[in-house]
Amino acid sequence: MRVAVSNGRVGLVVDGRFVDAAASGDLSGEPARIFEEWDVLRALADSIQDASAHPPVDEASLELPGPLPHNVFGVGLNYGDHATESAMELPKVPLVFMKAATSVVGPSEPVVLRSDAVDWEAELVVVIGKDCVDVEPEDAWSVIAGFTVGQDLSDREVQFEAGANAQFGLGKSAPGYGPIGPWIVTADELPDDLALEIGCEVNGAQKQHSNTEHLIFDVPTLVSFLSRRARLLPGDLIFSGTPSGVGWGRSPKEYLAPGDVLTTTIGGIGTLTTRTVAP
Ligand code: ZN
Repeated sequence: MRVAVSNGRVGLVVDGRFVDAAASGDLSGEPARIFEEWDVLRALADSIQDASAHPPVDEASLELPGPLPHNVFGVGLNYGDHATESAMELPKVPLVFMKAATSVVGPSEPVVLRSDAVDWEAELVVVIGKDCVDVEPEDAWSVIAGFTVGQDLSDREVQFEAGANAQFGLGKSAPGYGPIGPWIVTADELPDDLALEIGCEVNGAQKQHSNTEHLIFDVPTLVSFLSRRARLLPGDLIFSGTPSGVGWGRSPKEYLAPGDVLTTTIGGIGTLTTRTVAP
């Protein structure tokens, strides 16, 4: 199923239509309760035969699919080609940083650029669905609500202001620097090997293009690794890393400017469109 929030209401996206969840009677339809009502949403999704009587999805009305998360994890250098362009060694274990939960916004919110060194990072984002610790890799799917498209927007000035000891988390934590959307897609809608095309464009020019099959540490490994070191809660997000093609790795370096339209697409999930604005 595909779960979205439109005009403050939780709903299912079925064949391009928006099915308001609260209309079924068994659901509150409140975004704050999206994960506690997940199984009821599932039952509703399974019961829908034909959605053609429902209104088309209004993409401009889509909001953050869920409440603000408690924890947002970012994984650095999780694609070999991106580690190479960053002139950094391949990590032996997942290289994890915390990204401020207050950086997370929905798909239709404009992002204020706070410097002229804000970079794109297209990422597959894992949405946790269960309160859990110490999850085995083979059990990871049972604690995942689904997946969405994300941008781990990164202010390279802030990230490297301390010199060689990068401040990964702080450089990626400003308000709006974690846009996700347009909706959450459950694993059953995606191929078993989770090999998904991933890429982004700035004003229509392609900047990144890869496939999530190239993740160094795959999704079950990441969920298990994190759950052995932190308690995960429903709605927590894992930004699973970005492939090559970021602006910082280019010569000359390229960054986002006010008025840019950043479109990030993951096959089988959808496209997240992010508009940037001046402070
Ligand atoms: Zn990233």
